[in-house]
Amino acid sequence: MSKKIYLSSPHLSDEGYEMEYIKEAFVTNWIAPLGNNVNQFETELATKVGAKAAAALSSGTGAIHLALKAAGVGDGDVVFCPTLTFSATANPIIYQNATPVFIDSDYKTWNICPKALEKAFEKYPNVKAVIIVHLYGLSADMDIILEICRKHNVVVIEDAAESLGTHYKGKHTGTFSEYGIFSFNGNKIITTSGGGMLVSDNEERISKVRFWSTQSRDKARHYQHSELGFNYRMSNIVAGIGRGQLKVLDDRVEKKKYIFEFYKRELSKFEGIEFMPINEWNEPNYWLTCITLSGNVKPLDIMEALEKENIESRPIWKPMHMQPFFSEYDYVGGDVSQKLFENGVCLPSDTKMTEEDLSRVVEIIKSLF
Ligand SMILES: *Cc1c(COP(=O)(O)O)cnc(C)c1O
Repeated sequence: MSKKIYLSSPHLSDEGYEMEYIKEAFVTNWIAPLGNNVNQFETELATKVGAKAAAALSSGTGAIHLALKAAGVGDGDVVFCPTLTFSATANPIIYQNATPVFIDSDYKTWNICPKALEKAFEKYPNVKAVIIVHLYGLSADMDIILEICRKHNVVVIEDAAESLGTHYKGKHTGTFSEYGIFSFNGNKIITTSGGGMLVSDNEERISKVRFWSTQSRDKARHYQHSELGFNYRMSNIVAGIGRGQLKVLDDRVEKKKYIFEFYKRELSKFEGIEFMPINEWNEPNYWLTCITLSGNVKPLDIMEALEKENIESRPIWKPMHMQPFFSEYDYVGGDVSQKLFENGVCLPSDTKMTEEDLSRVVEIIKSLF
């Protein structure tokens, strides 16, 4: 069997930074929640993205959940959510007993469509919060979206799980609104094996999130609770991996961009292949290189041909309004997200890929045309 090529797998630093921080935690016996790595990882990530404060949590999903709670989302509230995303964006809306309304994408950004968003506001003027996703590391068009949201006085939460390292007009995604979240799951651009971060310029809200994430323990000698609590805090070991990974984030972005440009150079001449949109205001992290197909070669043809050669690829996210679990909820928009799902492929974008690996992928795809 030929060498396996992954879509996107963990890539630890060559320097062994992660192990150094883990060792520090062991030596000081701070492997339990909290400790120096957690505090430092929060500060270092907040500095990197340009946010005032950050709370390190056990997952990106947990971060979205507590962002919704911090935003005051509760029983029966309506929350707008892009339909083209991973289910982890939408599930926490249900955890809070709120109601998601799914919104279509546009072709220009692959992210939430401003026109559909405006239509949704007409239909649901009392919406409580809007989640914006920066899909595959492509930023949403924040100026337009925020202008619409500001008119309606809603809290905006940015799901930047896939876009650590992505900038919009020079500013880091996840820092345009009240709350931003990042994920360090195994396939993300950097990973802690699993974990997440909630960032905000509102330090009071961030300390509240830390409080909720450690079981809402009131200041008292005995165990005293006046609020519902969660066990969502990041451990000091995991935070150590994160600190090491953060040091190589810029290298990872550079390699992801190289991968995108390699595919683009080799494949864009083929009739019917179109690359994900890179807008002039966007500096993506190129987490995954995605294409859409409009000719005789279908996504399944590419995915099957690659699979035969032990190479991983994936369809574009299946929209939430097409998912059995979410089918009862309302959807505003047309068929853009559905078309992206039906015609799209995520190409292997693993930062450990060599020149030879990239050529292997490209040759297999070329042979289909
Ligand atoms: C990965 C991901 C999440 C969830 O992050 P976890 O850390 O895996 O919980 C949320 N939203 C999007 C868009 C993601 O890709």
